[in-house]
Amino acid sequence: MDAIRKRLEQELRSATARLRQMGGTESLDDTRPVADTGFADEVDVIQVNESREIGYATRELLVERVNRLSSALDRLDGGAYGTCAECGEAIAPARLRVMPEVETCVRCQEKLERFGRSDDDDLVEASAGASTEED
Ligand SMILES: [Zn+2]
Repeated sequence: MDAIRKRLEQELRSATARLRQMGGTESLDDTRPVADTGFADEVDVIQVNESREIGYATRELLVERVNRLSSALDRLDGGAYGTCAECGEAIAPARLRVMPEVETCVRCQEKLERFGRSDDDDLVEASAGASTEED
């Protein structure tokens, strides 16, 4: 499990670093339009808005990843790592090798993807603890 912990910590660090590069997690809800930054040309504004939206999407994915990685580390500490959070069965080791941060087995993952997740709020809360993890 030590190798997995190292990998999770490493991926958590790099995901957090990328988030910081993109402007941090605090301003995730900042949806200010770009128009007030002095762009006169409408086409430029549209292009900048588009690239900002890609940035938001990427950042949201990163935030999600940071949350998943840090909760995987929590489960590693609590002894629940490698167990499906939905059905309680063991997650296939091959699946954990590919995606060490997953918390559900393939079957439950498919179910969740079909019906959607309801714990988006929890994901945001978990990110607040991610930066204090080092203590
Ligand atoms: Zn399951």
